[in-house]
Amino acid sequence: MAIMNRILPILALSSLVSASAVQQPLQKIPEAQALINTKPLITSDAIQDLITSKNLMKRAEELYKIAELSLDEYNHPTRVIGSPGHLGTVDYIYSTIAELGDYYEISNQTFPAVMGNIFEYRLVLGNHVPNSASAMSLTPPTKNKEPVFGPLVLVANDGCDESDYPSNITGSIAFIRRGTCAFGDKSANAGKAGAIAAVVYNNMKGSLSGTLGEPSKYHIATFGISDQDAQPYIRELQAGKIINSSAYIDSIVTKTGTTNIIAQTKGGDQENCVMLGGHSDSVAEGPGINDDGTGTMTLLEVATQLVNFKVNNCVRFAWWAGEEEGLLGSDYYVSQLSEKENMKIRLFMDYDMLASPNFAYQVYDARDNVNPVGSEELRDLYTAYYEKHELNYTYIAFDGRSDYDAFIKNGIPGGGIATGAEGIKTKEEVEMFGGTAGQWYDPCYHQLCDDISNLNFEAWVVNTKLVAHSVATYAESFKGFPKRTSIMASAQQERSLYHGPQLVM
Ligand SMILES: [Zn+2]
Repeated sequence: MAIMNRILPILALSSLVSASAVQQPLQKIPEAQALINTKPLITSDAIQDLITSKNLMKRAEELYKIAELSLDEYNHPTRVIGSPGHLGTVDYIYSTIAELGDYYEISNQTFPAVMGNIFEYRLVLGNHVPNSASAMSLTPPTKNKEPVFGPLVLVANDGCDESDYPSNITGSIAFIRRGTCAFGDKSANAGKAGAIAAVVYNNMKGSLSGTLGEPSKYHIATFGISDQDAQPYIRELQAGKIINSSAYIDSIVTKTGTTNIIAQTKGGDQENCVMLGGHSDSVAEGPGINDDGTGTMTLLEVATQLVNFKVNNCVRFAWWAGEEEGLLGSDYYVSQLSEKENMKIRLFMDYDMLASPNFAYQVYDARDNVNPVGSEELRDLYTAYYEKHELNYTYIAFDGRSDYDAFIKNGIPGGGIATGAEGIKTKEEVEMFGGTAGQWYDPCYHQLCDDISNLNFEAWVVNTKLVAHSVATYAESFKGFPKRTSIMASAQQERSLYHGPQLVM
């Protein structure tokens, strides 16, 4: 301890001396840059000390008020893209960063987005209404938003190939097994073949709800049903029985524009960036204070405290829009990166839902053998932190449910932490984290009650400190962290089951 005390001031002093020695011969030091250089170098402990529950609470109160800007239009608070609540959120993020002065370069990136709304649907197969039937997100309506009638026709294999569709599919309702390709591909294939609606049945236990994703002119009204509901129909169709059916969906798919916000430190090595992101939007059903108000506010708080320090590597914060519609903002952002810009991002850290009321400390189970190399080192940074603080954690699937997906598909190492959405907490997890077994981690997930009272502040503070730790660690040094390899060599080739909150295949 005594030795530490003596060494620390010397180290601090020598780093100051060397910084000014480098700077002095330069004639024009921008004032802001000179100021940054007099700040102490970032350390994990120093920035963690600045994270308080009081600051987070203040932000949560502010964000809820912003969600209420949508009351007139939606009759309840929401921050869904296109709503006054989301515009207000984007303003709030932008102005919070702008008020920090010259430390960050802020940019906003507007991009085209799609939104869907399903008003009503009904599926009748033979004489029965399958209980599990649900309309897929971003499905177009049936023709003229009226019921359509036709025989149910079984499609061969998984309906991923045009040749899987028999010639009598024209004017019929296609019955397609889940698997191999995305729901959107199946719907488009059925549409191209002349079907008037499509029903995808689950190839595993349970009901099936998902999204068609990016709209296509070939998409037709599409439902999902459970394996159990599908079985009797499959048997009858295979026996050659004709099952006259009807399908009805009233829905709209509309185009809108929305905006990502990016803030990057002006200080630090601009060729080697640590990047982190959360999504600024919520679902239409509620204010989204946990999902992902917490990630949004944690990033704002860490960005606010980071200005007290000098960084060796650049730090880039992103607030994505359109996550709930299928990771639109992060997809667009990564799609616009040149190879050179892509290579500057050493890793991407995703922070989505950090304060679920019935929380577990969850770490994405990223692995170097399937994900871009470095993903596993990031995973281990999180678990080491929880272990150091004698906190339990669980691994969760790294399966494309949040904004890291475009990064890992394009060669950028990724990972992140979360506290749980609609999953059910087990007895074992209650022993690890407290809370209630048999209940969702976030019982208000994607609902109106995702408000301030839906937050667990204990988990939120721990995780915000961990986010600060992750930023501090890599802002200080990438020592020991794998170097980037070319995009193609390291990109994850496997398709994910999810691309956003809903199943895509
Ligand atoms: Zn989310």
